[in-house]
Amino acid sequence: MRTTVGIIGAGPAGLLLARLLRNAGIDSVVLESHDRTYVERRQRAGILEQGTADVLRAAGAGERMDREGLRHDGIELRFERERHRVDFPARTGGSSVLVYAQTEVCKDLIALQLKEGGPLLFGAEALAVEGARSDRPLVRFRHEGREDVLDCDYVVGCDGFWGVARKAVPAGLSRVFERTYPFGWLGILADVAPSHDELVYARHERGFALLSMRSPAVSRLYLQVPEGTEAGAWADGEIWDELERRFETGDDWRLERGPVTSKSVTPMRSYVHEPMRYGRLFLAGDAAHIVPPTGAKGLNLAVGDVVTFARALEHLGDTGSAERLDSYSETCLRRVWQAERFSYDMTTLLHRAPGASPFEDRIQLARLRRVATSRAAETDLAEGYTGFPLE
Ligand SMILES: Cc1cc2nc3c(=O)[nH]c(=O)nc-3n(C[C@H](O)[C@H](O)[C@H](O)COP(=O)(O)OP(=O)(O)OC[C@H]3O[C@@H](n4cnc5c(N)ncnc54)[C@H](O)[C@@H]3O)c2cc1C
Repeated sequence: MRTTVGIIGAGPAGLLLARLLRNAGIDSVVLESHDRTYVERRQRAGILEQGTADVLRAAGAGERMDREGLRHDGIELRFERERHRVDFPARTGGSSVLVYAQTEVCKDLIALQLKEGGPLLFGAEALAVEGARSDRPLVRFRHEGREDVLDCDYVVGCDGFWGVARKAVPAGLSRVFERTYPFGWLGILADVAPSHDELVYARHERGFALLSMRSPAVSRLYLQVPEGTEAGAWADGEIWDELERRFETGDDWRLERGPVTSKSVTPMRSYVHEPMRYGRLFLAGDAAHIVPPTGAKGLNLAVGDVVTFARALEHLGDTGSAERLDSYSETCLRRVWQAERFSYDMTTLLHRAPGASPFEDRIQLARLRRVATSRAAETDLAEGYTGFPLE
């Protein structure tokens, strides 16, 4: 098989890239190791920055998102039983975010790709990327029990943190920046209307909790749990009891309970691989960087990377200049590190580290009070949450 851009992975990064390239008249082939059902059901991110929603709309993938997505103009910070709302449009000159699940973004992009785009092969596992330094890189892959080769002009590794693309960068050229956190998130989906109309980020001495939603009838809730916790170790009733404790307020706010339909634990990690490009191999999304989910940045960063790549390739076609492709890694990393910083700030602002000292507790509360009382601090949070602009 031969194509211009070989894309490994049909998560949000790979699927959107295929769509952007197709719209620019550039052909691609997407290889995805899992089946369609798995990709469409994998529960992950749920917050789209305004810039991400704009990109999906411009790519012709925003119709259902605009019908079913929920526009959110703020979040609530909760600490010491008090509530503080951060008003996004007021602090950013009009920006907001959209609650629309990653599963739905993927479903929309898969449907478009199968209808109008180039080949999207499910059950096609990339085994290795070879010849990244040559003009003709290739991807070896296995599909329907047979090994095959995809010859490309460019390969984009959109294959997530555990993929193969990153391994093609020689160890001597790779630099990894990493931090793991001694806690994770126990997440549930519940068939109950959200108890608040905006996301609630709660800092509590027992640990962090987040109230989020997937739709007006489905709640998504998270609890900070110790690293290595198994989802099955918590009974549904225990989860609700703990959520109630951490979200408690001084007023008459109440948490509504409902049937839990899914339960999982997400580890928390910050990770950046530099560079994001090696010859004609480009890394995008989780293949190159991971953020803890507190800042809701993972999916949005993946979108930023593939937009940068698609624009750079279009620029090459329009002008003959490879300048933007050459600076892909530096351009992406500037935005990536802002998102890493923001996600780290949000994580350390809201989670209680095991063994935190009374001094650290007081500092954390002082940081939260600063956001609640200073326009400048609140603006910084609102700008970070609604998204850093694409260059
Ligand atoms: C459990 C979990 C919960 C999360 N929750 C949030 C959240 O609440 N908010 C938030 O902002 N972010 C969250 N994230 C992060 C966010 O979902 C990711 O940043 C986003 O999925 C990145 O998209 P991607 O396309 O780069 O990678 P992925 O979505 O990981 O897609 C990679 C794709 O590549 C495929 N693949 C892997 N290896 C191969 C191979 N060898 N050959 C072919 N295909 C391959 C995979 O099957 C997958 O479909 C979460 C992540 C996880 C893991």
